[in-house]
Amino acid sequence: MSDNPYQILLDKQKKYFLEKGRTKSLYERKQTLKRLRNWVKANQELILTELAKDFGKSREELMISEIKPIVSEIKDALSNIRFWAQDVHKKTPLALFGSKARVIKEPKGVTLIIAPWNFPFMLAIGPLVSAIAAGCTAVIKPSENTPACEALIEKLVKEVFQPEEVACVKGAVQETTQLLQLKWDHIFFTGSPLVGKIVMKAAAEHLTSVTLELGGQNPVIVDRNANFKDTAQKLIWGKFFNCGQSCISPNYVLVPDDKHLEFVKILKSEYAKVFKNGVESEKESSFARVVNAQHFERVKSLIDKSVEEGMLLLEGGNTNKETNFIAPTILDGVREDSAIFNEEIFGPVMPLMLYSDIEKALDIINRNEKPLALYIFTKSNKFAKHIIQNTSAGTTVINDTTIQFSDQNIPLGGDRKSGT
Ligand code: NAD
Repeated sequence: MSDNPYQILLDKQKKYFLEKGRTKSLYERKQTLKRLRNWVKANQELILTELAKDFGKSREELMISEIKPIVSEIKDALSNIRFWAQDVHKKTPLALFGSKARVIKEPKGVTLIIAPWNFPFMLAIGPLVSAIAAGCTAVIKPSENTPACEALIEKLVKEVFQPEEVACVKGAVQETTQLLQLKWDHIFFTGSPLVGKIVMKAAAEHLTSVTLELGGQNPVIVDRNANFKDTAQKLIWGKFFNCGQSCISPNYVLVPDDKHLEFVKILKSEYAKVFKNGVESEKESSFARVVNAQHFERVKSLIDKSVEEGMLLLEGGNTNKETNFIAPTILDGVREDSAIFNEEIFGPVMPLMLYSDIEKALDIINRNEKPLALYIFTKSNKFAKHIIQNTSAGTTVINDTTIQFSDQNIPLGGDRKSGT
């Protein structure tokens, strides 16, 4: 018998799964989902208060990005679980005349869910909804970078589940490394491509299947004939939501060189309507902070380096180390060799980059890793179709940013560096 507490936990869940889980009826799965939904609804105020402590997200942002998606994901699972779980009857070949074949959906077993800090509640509980709907047990490892959320998830798990059904393990690299050494039936990881590789290597040891929800550079292409005012408003919303700390946040904006000045004028004017001169946003409770000092330094040094490299600070750039505040920032004149272009920014910085013709813009996108999200702003269906046919991204959105997140019916995942 092992004295490793994580192995003991896994064995307990495996035993429960084999004894009960495999045969767990859809009725029981639904009851479990309803228990989870009821807890989230009953504790909405607590969730809002606790999550705001981590990096100052506003109630509005928390409602949109942490609570509502979970409630609607549970609703979606409750309405579709019967369909997802039903057997699929298959035709048999003539040589097997008289026989019948069907595919039976069965739960994988004991799953490990590793969550990041940027939407720390939703990205831990969302995959849990799927695990429960699939009839699996789960161990959740929340992010150590958002301690208030970590404690909240621990509380939720204790109050809603038996440990053999769902458990929460708190910790950072050391604890996650120990968890990854065990033989799970599936690992669901959301985080950086760097750690994604570590997870995949560890999973390969046991040939465990993985879902990797990773990150990357998300391009925006603005067409010459786009509605610039609408484009600017949607870019400002999508880029600065959650202080730019979103996996589908626009990472760089490709602007046609002959319309550059016109576009910049409108972008600055729309920026001023929301953030005034940028410094003001420090007083606004609706603008979140960078998650911690380490990420603050990383994003600040990207801005400083960009200015050193000759980029123009169009808006923002102000920072406050005491509160991890970085003003919503717009940089102009970014090049492919700029440091800021070659990193997932994950902060409130919007770099603008010029393109002369669309084929050159496509080259820039296609020379780099496949993006998790791609945004096109245009009035022309032909233009949008051309971009879609000549690029590959997890999701491509026309004339908006980040809204794909709220659509349960479309896949969001990327490819390679942006996900598996
Ligand atoms: P991260 O990879 O640093 O951490 C994610 C998790 O892995 C945490 O729980 C952490 O404790 C653990 N971890 C960190 N280092 C580890 C190591 N060396 N060994 C084992 N475990 C380790 O990611 P993050 O900073 O929390 O989140 C930001 C990243 O997540 C960004 O790249 C972002 O694009 C990505 N992300 C992707 C999606 C998506 O849906 N595709 C959603 C949100 C965030």
